Amino acid sequence: QKKMDIQEFVKCVEFAARKHKNQRRKDTEQTPYINHPIGVAYILSEEGAITDQKVLQVALLHDTVEDTDATIEEIAMLFGQDVAGLVQEVTDDKSLPKLERKRVQIEVAATTSPRAKLVKLADKLYNLRDLMRCTPLGWSEERVQDYFEWAAKVIRGLRGTNKRLEEELDMILKKRGVYE
Ligand code: NDP
Ligand code: ZN
Repeated sequence: QKKMDIQEFVKCVEFAARKHKNQRRKDTEQTPYINHPIGVAYILSEEGAITDQKVLQVALLHDTVEDTDATIEEIAMLFGQDVAGLVQEVTDDKSLPKLERKRVQIEVAATTSPRAKLVKLADKLYNLRDLMRCTPLGWSEERVQDYFEWAAKVIRGLRGTNKRLEEELDMILKKRGVYE
């Protein structure tokens, strides 16, 4: 087990917090967006028992390129090629229309690298729990259910990666009556 580089890790926390500073989650409380990447890293560490520092760093950074002005080049420069490559893997192609991106996520899930799969699993777990906790403003029950069904299809391609996370996801999907 390689030693944890705390300075590098804190640099990630600061970068993500700065990039997401003006964003809020879609819940009714408008939770600061940064709670999500921190929560995804926490799920990986606490529930997934992941100690791979780069995976935890990618969790912190996973939505910066998709949702802020951060670029892969910037992340490569600051955090190295490994981390940048993994962030790339968990970033949707923004040149595609939204519905198309959803379809691509289902399609490419199985071909994702094991470390990127971990981040994707924890991301889905966080988002599904968020939806169980509260329905975003303006979302119908049908839209929430559609999201669970779509997520289940993505998760299918991510399986065989982390037993604990997959069991937690299965429990939630079962509660919603979704089986994959
Ligand atoms: P979005 O993709 O717009 O929202 C879901 C995403 O928002 C999550 O993956 C998560 O991504 C982020 N997010 C932020 N806050 C929360 C929260 N509190 N709980 C859960 N997730 C949160 O929505 P959909 O995936 O449902 O829809 C995308 C497509 O579907 C669009 O094209 C839209 O037009 C269409 N649509 C579908 C409807 C339906 O009834 N099914 C109705 C209207 C539109 P992250 O991890 O990146 O933060
Ligand atoms: Zn996310």
